[in-house]
Amino acid sequence: MLHGAPALGQDQGLTWRILVVDNDPDVHAATRAALEGQMLFGRSLVFMHAFSGDEARSLLLREHDLAMVLIDVVSQRASAGLDLIDFIRHCAGLKNTRIVLRTGQPGQVPDLETLLRYDINDYRTKAELTSDRLLAMVVTAVRSYKQLCAVHASAYHDPLVNLPNRSYFIDKVNEFEQRGMDDHIVALIDIDDFSATNDMMGHHFGDRLLEKVARRLEESLPADVLLARLDADTFAVLGSVQQVQPRRLLECALQPLHIEGVPHKVSLTCGYVLLPKAPQPGADLIKDATIALKRAKRDHRGQHLQYADQMGTEARARAVLLSNLREAIEKQQLFLVYQPQLNLDTQQLIGLEALLRWRTEDNTFIPPDQFIPVAEHSGLILGLGQWVLATACATMRELLDTGLAPLRMAVNVSTVQLRDPGFFELVCAALAANNLEGRHLELEITESVAALPTKLLDSTLCALRAEGISIAIDDFGTGYSSLSYLERLPLDRIKIDRSFTRQLGDPHGARIAEMVADLGRKLGLAVLAEGIEDAGAWQALLAMGYQEGQGYHIAMPMDKTELRHWLGRHPERLRAA
Ligand code: C2E
Ligand code: CA
Ligand code: CA
Repeated sequence: MLHGAPALGQDQGLTWRILVVDNDPDVHAATRAALEGQMLFGRSLVFMHAFSGDEARSLLLREHDLAMVLIDVVSQRASAGLDLIDFIRHCAGLKNTRIVLRTGQPGQVPDLETLLRYDINDYRTKAELTSDRLLAMVVTAVRSYKQLCAVHASAYHDPLVNLPNRSYFIDKVNEFEQRGMDDHIVALIDIDDFSATNDMMGHHFGDRLLEKVARRLEESLPADVLLARLDADTFAVLGSVQQVQPRRLLECALQPLHIEGVPHKVSLTCGYVLLPKAPQPGADLIKDATIALKRAKRDHRGQHLQYADQMGTEARARAVLLSNLREAIEKQQLFLVYQPQLNLDTQQLIGLEALLRWRTEDNTFIPPDQFIPVAEHSGLILGLGQWVLATACATMRELLDTGLAPLRMAVNVSTVQLRDPGFFELVCAALAANNLEGRHLELEITESVAALPTKLLDSTLCALRAEGISIAIDDFGTGYSSLSYLERLPLDRIKIDRSFTRQLGDPHGARIAEMVADLGRKLGLAVLAEGIEDAGAWQALLAMGYQEGQGYHIAMPMDKTELRHWLGRHPERLRAA
């Protein structure tokens, strides 16, 4: 019964089990007579008897809760005694069981190294063992067994959900690996949106939820499959491929859970890996299963996904990129460029969009499309985004001071940043530090914000707009198809994605661009077209009702020096602003 394995020493009720290995029936009888009826630490003693090494071995494979083994090494060769001890520790896996040797004469005593290596408690010559001394020895051994079990139980046990913990799980995976059990599977199961539920409903509710999911999983699995809690809301399963089917694991949450009398629906996601033929450390296998789980959470929520080697390659490439990015930030290899946004009719400069650039030491550029997702995934975007905001605000201040400023500076904001409860204060601080007003700043957010908790999103956006900051929805048309959120969200502007602007020559692209312009009009939102690459697109967009636009045809994204030159060359763009 693996579910309860860490609670070793408690499985067998109120007894201490002692195995006596000796070929002499009189020794068995004498031992029994000396100890029978004794209570130790509130439990009685139970004896098991083996008359040969082989008999002992078959018994040891069945017993998981032996407090002590008394081995006679008089009648056996010393090496046979050591073989048996090796068997106890390594094949039967009984690490806590206390071992006491009964020897004939002092010469048969194993050396110190052997005693330590096999964790042998004690050795006595048979003549020494009067019944008093035998009892004293048993008391010592049982006490030590009891303590070892308690230590192991707490080091291996997760009291919140009453399951084995991560350390125990890793140990077991290692053990299975060593035994070459390659028809086995390691599956990780994660509760979707657990942290949001935890935040919204409170930690007490979250704890109950974890407990309920643990019980559901436990009930759905055969008793000899190992179930553990790996961390926060991730459970781990180790069992044979016949016994563990990922799809079945997910199905255990189909019926709502009842928590504090309220039905609560959860969905689970699973990533798994099959134990390989070539041995691999347990921790590596769990890492692989974790990669599969993360991928499943990203692309296949509520489903299961098997680990494939190429996932590991990708994950490692991302890890390298992330560490390079950290270094690049330290070495100040990141900077901002600014792309002008014009009123398409009057050609006045209305805004600048700040865009992040990363130039490596060998002068190559890593595109933001590549490193921003990695920064978002790791949380690095929080610090990076704060720096972008501060730098863009500082540039806006410089432009205002030199009389070259547009109406506003537009800054891209990732959903991860918006989710941060301190985001609003952070924006206000960046404005204040540069003596700017809210109207000087626009934040570009993407359609993926629709996935954020409604309350948080509404309150943050409303607070920002109350400061005079405008909000644009970026890359419009590429994400969520539901338009209802557009009506619900407090917005100022829609930016149609450049993929549609590029397809204006094509009837389908033109229709979408027109629809977006209509939508903006109906909802009372400004519409801005990005990716204007030629004069034809400019004219077509203007005719469709786009008031604003940006693109290579108007101006490239430029660093501060280039921007100043561009503004110098186009004084007319600033006149009415
Ligand atoms: P985006 O916000 O849609 O930015 C517009 C992208 O279109 C920029 O690419 C810009 O250089 C490019 N672009 C401008 N005019 C044209 C044109 O006429 N034709 C074409 N084909 N492209 C044009 P970039 O700078 O590579 O940025 C890519 C994406 O990276 C951005 O897309 C944005 O999602 C993200 N990004 C860039 N900077 C930041 C940042 O500071 N924070 C965050 N969160 N994301 C950023
Ligand atoms: Ca943008
Ligand atoms: Ca865009």
